Amino acid sequence: MSSAIPPRAVDLLIVGAGFGGLCMLHRARQRGLSALVLESAASVGGTWYHNRYPGARVDIQSMEYSFSFSEELQQEWRWTERYAAQPELLRYANHVADRFGLRDGIRLNARVTGAAFDEAANRWCVETESDGAWSARFLVMASGPLSAPNVPAFKGLESFAGPVYHTAQWPHEPVDFTGLRVGVVGTGSSGVQAIPLIAQQARELTVFQRTAAYAVPAHNGPLDAAFEARIKADYAGFRERNRRMPAGFGSELPPNPMSALEATPDEREAAFEARWRIGGFSFLGTYRDIMLDERANALAAEFVRGKIRQIVRDPETARLLSPSQTIGCKRLCVDTGYYAAYNRPNVHLVDVSRHPIDAITPAGLTTNGRSYEFDALVLATGFDAMTGTLLRLDLRGRKGLRIQDKWRAGPLNYLGLMIEGFPNLFNVAGPGSTSAFTNVIVSIEHHVDWIADCIAYLDTHGRATIEATAPAEAAWVAHVTDVASRTVYLTCNSWYLGANIPGKPRMFMPLLGFPPYADQCAEVARHGYEGFVLA
Ligand code: NAP
Repeated sequence: MSSAIPPRAVDLLIVGAGFGGLCMLHRARQRGLSALVLESAASVGGTWYHNRYPGARVDIQSMEYSFSFSEELQQEWRWTERYAAQPELLRYANHVADRFGLRDGIRLNARVTGAAFDEAANRWCVETESDGAWSARFLVMASGPLSAPNVPAFKGLESFAGPVYHTAQWPHEPVDFTGLRVGVVGTGSSGVQAIPLIAQQARELTVFQRTAAYAVPAHNGPLDAAFEARIKADYAGFRERNRRMPAGFGSELPPNPMSALEATPDEREAAFEARWRIGGFSFLGTYRDIMLDERANALAAEFVRGKIRQIVRDPETARLLSPSQTIGCKRLCVDTGYYAAYNRPNVHLVDVSRHPIDAITPAGLTTNGRSYEFDALVLATGFDAMTGTLLRLDLRGRKGLRIQDKWRAGPLNYLGLMIEGFPNLFNVAGPGSTSAFTNVIVSIEHHVDWIADCIAYLDTHGRATIEATAPAEAAWVAHVTDVASRTVYLTCNSWYLGANIPGKPRMFMPLLGFPPYADQCAEVARHGYEGFVLA
């Protein structure tokens, strides 16, 4: 790599100023390290900076989806809604940056293009598009597991005459669909949130659905003041109880320890109905075995299909909207008026499951021998999840090893934190970690603490580098798949498996179960970083 500007040096370079990067920068400074964040965007916030599509909001409750590292922060911040919307989450990220004086440690508009490990100096040299080169002992990739947008290679996409919007690259100025015909491709979490709101504005909305989505109601609303006061009276205790939950959240309504298969049909109906009324992810905890046993799962799935038939008036539309895959296998969607949107006369559903979209044309698109016309196209087509951000970089470890070669068969890693051949490079919330299966902020704080402790250990033991070993990596990847194979998560084509991107190697990437994972990471550290080489 070359650069006109000589590299500027810090202890720690962090890529990304989303929640992961902000948290890492704060922790690094507390530990007395010189640290710098390189962020491609014009401001902080990561996911919540980019995903500005109508209806974008978090689907973990606001009181949980926030940092726990500062009692003052969690006491003073007031959420307005049960599930915060994107503008409020972005304000929160900005508040954190200001409150902890982080802005002078963040280089904005500094897109990282690559990084190479200099074995002689034991340092990473990081290149940016227009901000020169930087050098650091440690490189922390906090670039996000869901931040590389997936734009399918539709034939003729560039020929479309109107605007094309990707939900993850939404414009900053308001987009007004009033009076327009809009086409939406994609019915995952982003599409499910955007469709009801676009439907209210657009003259006609045509949704192109490849896989029908299971969505449970959010029942969003103003944050209950009594609930807020109760949580704030012992916020630390609430955080601790959540950290002991499998997904790092939901301690207020834990999974029911009963099996769905042991309940009578009437009991099941009542139990599903009760959780449906509460809303959100807790629906999958109606019984302990919904995600473990396909028979239990089928009962939950059929309950949701029944709801779809009740909500959607046209039986054929209801049939098309009814998913057939295991519920929760693709990430469950949390909605506000999604299925009901299809009762509007201006909303049309086109099934592209058996006949894919052939081409985008100047006037719309063609599929199954038919043409559909619209003025604006929305791609709610998701992400090259977990690996996309790193694989789009020119990232080179020891002996020039390219990440694209290292990960040719899938994202090898140890503890979801480090990669053999890439010493002193840490991945926050990446593949092999629990990030995607948790309240990601819980996973981020855990990773940030582990990384800070690891660096402190190296320094007190006079070691320059830490690197995962190949056997530890192989065992870890097998462990992640083994855990998933005891559940229903391998029964569908999800982004967890890399199955949403043509040609991407199939490897189950996220790890289930936050508490055992946190214990394993702690255990490895306690034993002097077993499975790593320290030099
Ligand atoms: P996604 O879940 O991957 O959904 C993408 C959608 O686009 C799917 O319906 C997919 O169909 C469809 N699609 C992709 N390529 C297509 C093609 N060539 N032709 C037709 N359809 C195509 O992406 P997402 O909705 O952006 O969500 C991704 C993840 O981000 C979520 O699972 C969640 O973890 C996170 N997220 C969270 C929130 C929240 O917290 N509220 C909101 C949005 C997103 P197939 O299913 O058939 O592949």
